Amino acid sequence: MSLYPPLTQEILRELRTYLDESRVVTNAKELENVSFDQAAKSLYSQIPEVLVYPISTQEVASIVKLANVHRIPITARGAGSGLAGGAVPLHKGIVIAFDKMNRLLEIDKNNLTVTVEPGIITNKINEALESYGLYFAGYPMSLERCMIGGNIATNAGGGKAIKYGVTGRYIVGLEVVTATGEILTLGGKLFKNVTGYDLKQLFIGSEGTLGIITQATIQLTPLPKAASTMLVWFSQMKDAVQLVPEILTTLGITPTAIELIDQTAMKYVCEALNESFYRPLAQATLLIEVDGANQAVTNQQIQQIASLCERHGAIDVLVAADAPTRERMWKTRRSIAETLKQHSPEMSLEDMVLPIHAIPDYMPHVKRLEDMYEVSMPTYGHAGDGNLHTTLLKKASLTDAEWHALEAILLEELYTVVHQLGGKISGEHGIGIKRKSYFTAMADPAELTIMQAIKKTLDPNNILNPGKIFDLN
Ligand SMILES: Cc1cc2nc3c(=O)[nH]c(=O)nc-3n(C[C@H](O)[C@H](O)[C@H](O)COP(=O)(O)OP(=O)(O)OC[C@H]3O[C@@H](n4cnc5c(N)ncnc54)[C@H](O)[C@@H]3O)c2cc1C
Repeated sequence: MSLYPPLTQEILRELRTYLDESRVVTNAKELENVSFDQAAKSLYSQIPEVLVYPISTQEVASIVKLANVHRIPITARGAGSGLAGGAVPLHKGIVIAFDKMNRLLEIDKNNLTVTVEPGIITNKINEALESYGLYFAGYPMSLERCMIGGNIATNAGGGKAIKYGVTGRYIVGLEVVTATGEILTLGGKLFKNVTGYDLKQLFIGSEGTLGIITQATIQLTPLPKAASTMLVWFSQMKDAVQLVPEILTTLGITPTAIELIDQTAMKYVCEALNESFYRPLAQATLLIEVDGANQAVTNQQIQQIASLCERHGAIDVLVAADAPTRERMWKTRRSIAETLKQHSPEMSLEDMVLPIHAIPDYMPHVKRLEDMYEVSMPTYGHAGDGNLHTTLLKKASLTDAEWHALEAILLEELYTVVHQLGGKISGEHGIGIKRKSYFTAMADPAELTIMQAIKKTLDPNNILNPGKIFDLN
């Protein structure tokens, strides 16, 4: 039996008094389109009862108030590029999609901020800022597709977090509609603020379970004038992963990115892109970038890092000679998730985060499990901040059901290793539905109790993205 009452014709009629007819959608095809995200569809999908496209905060507030009165679940949806089932309307109800709240509201050059609606595609923010010599330093690999609201709700990380940190670091102001339909304005164009509890931070990364983000003010960074990028190939995985902390500690340089790509991931992505970066003898490749104000300095730094790599077992180094080569290197890295998904739509793209010194201890366990279960688990990710995307590819010989049974065993094993090494099961994709049971089993009970108490206080009727992160008792 459903935990929630059905959405009645009367509620639909009332929604149509807030939003015009075309933005209250009950068409089966369109509902199906928002029933899943990028987690395996066969496991994580649900068709909502209605899909709405608000164009203002006021409309969002009216929708939420109505839903709260009738206890109808609400799932906020950005671009649906999430990898944890976060945007799946698990208990049906209303999906609020932000495609039509996608305006860039203000670039404030004097205060170094940009204010945006949640539905703007992340990359469009930086395209608009380029001529001002400014940028938003968040860099999820999905930036051409995902929306800033989704980035804030998942506290998205990405390829440049080692130097610049993750999305939440830059969100200085936030407008949020609470579960009871109040409009909260938190922070502002302020780079410091300890005026009471930092409620803004509470909503960041809360996966749409505590409030609906309707506007954000983002702190900007000067656009680096120079960058140097290279690929470094290693015959041994251990040489590549041991080098990550070495680069940071020995040279005293903080690269913008240290991305790891293992042999299988590199092979697949180079084949898919018809790219020449695959080296059959290399178990691992690092993409390393430094940026700064001066090209001569970044060139010198990349050479220092290249020499260190060569002293530590690198078999080949390619420094990008120009911007197109640099972009080819990044495109190769950015395309891995999509490429692996094409190989295996039922894949499980994982997101473990480890202390960086623990990466060398983690990688042999991946190999051990691959050998033990005869399964391919390419691993790549943001090695510079310890965030690795081990990806479990479905064995072609297995049915979906057999695969999901094996997947559960592998995840249990991997997560146990991660836990023992002092890591966590998600660095940037979030818990969603996909990792809920593992999270609740592994979380510190006291921490979980506080999280549940916060949820109950902010969302007393449990209507905001229910069934995500944890269940309520
Ligand atoms: C190829 C590929 C590469 C990726 N690379 C990265 C990466 O480098 N780093 C990274 O962090 N992630 C990455 N991701 C995952 C994904 O892109 C991010 O999680 C992204 O932040 C999700 O944004 P979205 O707009 O697609 O949100 P959705 O998937 O639509 O939603 C994600 C979550 O946010 C909630 N949400 C969305 N909008 C709002 C709102 N306005 N208010 C409240 N809650 C909201 C949803 O309910 C859901 O829980 C990648 C995904 C793909 C497919």
